[in-house]
Amino acid sequence: MASDQESTLSTSLPISTNQLLEDDLPSSSSSALLSTAGHHSSPRKTAASTLVFISLVVTTAVALSAAAAFSFLFFSSAPNPSPHSTAALSSRPLSKLKHPVVLIISSDGFRFGYQYKSDLPNINRLIRNGTEAERGLIPVFPTLTFPNHYSIVTGLYPAYHGIINNYFTDPIDGDNFNMGSHEPKWWLGEPLWETVSNHGLKASTYFWPGSEVHKGSWDCPNNYCMPYNESVPFEERVDTVLNYFDLPSDEIPSFMTLYFEDPDHEGHQYGPDDVRITDAIVEIDTLMGRLIHGLEERGVFEDINIILLGDHGMVGTCDKKVIALDDLAQWVKIPKEWVQSYSPLLSIRPPPGYSSSDVVAKMNEGLESGRVANGEFLRVYLKEGLPNRLHYSASYRIPPIVGLVGEGFTVKQTRSKGQECGGAHGYDNAFFSMRTIFIAHGPRFARGRKVPSFENVQIYNMVTAILKIEGASNNGSVSFADTVVLPTHSK
Ligand code: AMP
Ligand code: ZN
Ligand code: ZN
Repeated sequence: MASDQESTLSTSLPISTNQLLEDDLPSSSSSALLSTAGHHSSPRKTAASTLVFISLVVTTAVALSAAAAFSFLFFSSAPNPSPHSTAALSSRPLSKLKHPVVLIISSDGFRFGYQYKSDLPNINRLIRNGTEAERGLIPVFPTLTFPNHYSIVTGLYPAYHGIINNYFTDPIDGDNFNMGSHEPKWWLGEPLWETVSNHGLKASTYFWPGSEVHKGSWDCPNNYCMPYNESVPFEERVDTVLNYFDLPSDEIPSFMTLYFEDPDHEGHQYGPDDVRITDAIVEIDTLMGRLIHGLEERGVFEDINIILLGDHGMVGTCDKKVIALDDLAQWVKIPKEWVQSYSPLLSIRPPPGYSSSDVVAKMNEGLESGRVANGEFLRVYLKEGLPNRLHYSASYRIPPIVGLVGEGFTVKQTRSKGQECGGAHGYDNAFFSMRTIFIAHGPRFARGRKVPSFENVQIYNMVTAILKIEGASNNGSVSFADTVVLPTHSK
């Protein structure tokens, strides 16, 4: 089940070829060749032929020097190797650890582009010496926290892993799912901590949606699986992860997660352009510094594959950008009991006896009439009629009617006079504002490499490739993962 995302790999060289040629040419080489040429020239030759000869020699010298510099660029291993060089094509050996380790760090709501808001020495160090999705990581639809975190660790779209929203009702038994639901029945697919422990390896989770759910041989073990508690200081989370590296080698988890609620909190409250977002990003950078420093002290920083990412982006919302369902009453009445979620994911389940296609037709008629405020910024679909790229229909849990809401717009039942401004996510994953970051650093990631954007369902296969374990089947493609993760020598 390969994703339809672009999969070609590109590598950018931060230094242009011309600049490298200039910087790396030995300053004496041209003049040395010129003096050799001078030795062969006859005093009786005309000035013109001497000039032609010299220019030929100069051309040869420049060509030779260029070739030398080019071969330097081609075969040099540091700091930004070409993808064609031997050094760039294989992983770096572990120096201290006895087995590969992957640490996935999620900074909730870290919109792609936030990394340019300030000088971030630690995050930029990871970018400079690692592999980055050059235009960001594409979340899955709906671009919400629980669906996306669980796609990252299962490689499955929400329709297949079952977490189709942060909150929803099972239409068969009427049970409600919320962010505190840990019963295994909700959580389909095989998350990485389960895959890892099924292979007899250790995993640890310092928070992650789904991590407290007992599945397969994963029973959320004490000290390796932290029960969610948002008041644990971020520093304490980092220090706990660092402490795992003080354990005897065979007790160090092969797979670890680490989660921070920021900058999502600030994004919702103030919108993505507020100075308090910048402060939150600087704090995340400081935490990365604490982590890197602690790993360096233990001599394992270069041995660990760190993947720093987010679950989705953030876009500004404001009071004027509201679409009220009550405004559609003239075409069709949508009682609030039909609505499972309003915004940015509008999902509606009419009760038995109502035709969902009639409801969709009437809603769209009203929205397109020009008589509903902001109606042009909402389109509703039968879930089977949604664009295929959203992969949001193949679950009985997804309500039959789904609305795609315009970027930054809010759907409400009733138009209110409130003057609300803030931020939201959950919209179509094609919006650039919903993209987040993917920054990977470690022995299985090339230094200074940029890769095109890809969907987060590809990450599961990257982790199993690094840990050299067989993964469960999923919506990512193994061949795509191989274009981001460096092969080992033994492969
Ligand atoms: P969202 O509204 O989609 O941005 O959800 C973000 C919120 O999800 C965070 O602010 C946390 O309150 C909550 N959250 C994140 N991880 C967990 C977890 N593992 N368990 C329960 N709630 C969580
Ligand atoms: Zn989130
Ligand atoms: Zn959020």
